[in-house]
This record gives sequence, C-alpha cells and structure tokens, in this order.
Amino acid sequence: MSGNSHDDRTGFSVPLWNKAYYRIRERILRGELRPGEALSARRLAEEFGMSLLPISPAFRQLENEKLLESRSRAGTRVRIPRPEEIRDRCVVREALEAQSARLCAINANMKERVELMRLAEQLDTLYERFGRAASDPELQYVVHTLHFELHMRIAEYARCEELRDAIEKNQVLIYNWFFDLATNRRALPSGFHAKLLRVVTGSDPIAADEAMRAHVKYGVPEMLKDKLLPSANDWRLRRSQANNKEANQPVKETAIHSGHKLPRTRSSIIDH
Ligand SMILES: [Zn+2]
Repeated sequence: MSGNSHDDRTGFSVPLWNKAYYRIRERILRGELRPGEALSARRLAEEFGMSLLPISPAFRQLENEKLLESRSRAGTRVRIPRPEEIRDRCVVREALEAQSARLCAINANMKERVELMRLAEQLDTLYERFGRAASDPELQYVVHTLHFELHMRIAEYARCEELRDAIEKNQVLIYNWFFDLATNRRALPSGFHAKLLRVVTGSDPIAADEAMRAHVKYGVPEMLKDKLLPSANDWRLRRSQANNKEANQPVKETAIHSGHKLPRTRSSIIDH
C-alpha cells in the first residue's frame, strides 16, 4: 500500500501502514493516548520515521475498529466510547465467548486445562497487585495483555478456527481492553479468573457457557452508569502535555505486532 519494510523478528515484510497501525494501537492500549485526545498525523509520521502516506490507512483501520474517530475540519482523535456501542459490543462478546467456553470445556486436553488454570491464577495475582498500585502504566499494560491472552487461549482450545478468528476479527477483546482503560476499571473480585476457569476447564459445557456469560457482563451496567465518559459530541480536541512531550522521545519498539502476542516484560513482572 505505502511501501514495505523488513521486520527482523519474523523475516517477512510488514507494510508500513500496518506498522503505524500497531504502534498507534499500542499507544492507545497503553493508555498513553486517552479517549478524546487528538492525534496529529504529521507528528506521528515524524516519530515513526515515515511519510504521511502510511498514517491515513492506519487511521482508517483504527476507525473501523472503533478506536479512533474523525470529523471533517475537527481532525482525528481517540474514540470516546458510546454507551450503546459498549452495550452492543458486550452482546457480541458474550455470544462468541460463551460458545468458546462451552467448546473449550469439551475439547481442551488435560495439559491445556492445567495451563489455563495457571494463567488464570497469575492473572488474578497481577490484578490484585494492579488494584493496590497507585499508578503503574507498565503493570496496567501487562495485566491487560495477559487478560487478552487468557481469553484468546480459551478460544484456541475450543478447537474451532472460525470461532477463534471471529473473536479476533470482531476485536471484542481489544475493545474490552479499551473500555476498561476508558472507565479506569482496576479492581475485580478476588480469584475472579480462577473461578471462571475452574468451570471452563471442568466437565460441564453448559455451566462453562453460563459462567462466561456472567464473566463478560460483570460490572458493565454499573460502569456505564457511574463512570462518566467525556461527551462524545464535544469535538474541542484536546492534546495532552504527555502527548507533546512524547514527540521528542525515542519511540519504543511495539510489543504486540500480531493479534495476541505477549510483551516480553510479562514474565519478569509475574515472577516477582
Ligand atoms: Zn476476563
């Protein structure tokens, strides 16, 4: 589309617009770009060391995925999630992940079940630490990455490629991550994921289905009621100081290049 560049890790050429896409997405998922915050295509192009050309398709893709939004004469900003769209996404996530949990309960082998339980316990420990920490952007990113990874792993062990792809393509987990950041959701009940995974790795597929439905819906209505998001119709674009400051700093290499890779930092934080 707009030229390719060689990626040393994979040996494949990655289109530049795709690189720009992952870098911008990672900034959003790290909470470095907040809902409502303005994006400058020119500044991003400078930071990424590319021309403006690859930035537009990256913006378009992120708009399709409802992480960015644009308006003529106002520019592009990180999307402010609408309550109705959060509700609808939750419905789609429930449909896909309940089926994923049901099939996982039927098809996962013993080794996979043990692995899922272990991941769930690690995630609960990290969530507890995250809930207590005053502000730790790196820990926040690691928690959300592991959360994403655990749910993708359940989908993988459901042994239905089309279902797994649907979960990935519908971006239900990425959007959920974005929603958690937008509403600053930090605390979950103790043992939240271990409790879910005991059922999902158990012998009752219907119970697994029901447990996942409850898991997906947990706290969403309260979040929508209590956590006030800035008005989606107010288009006075904000550009934070952090954003301006970042422009002069070297850009960290993006950790997530393909859908559900974990950042390298995870194990070091878990092993603490
Ligand atoms: Zn979860």
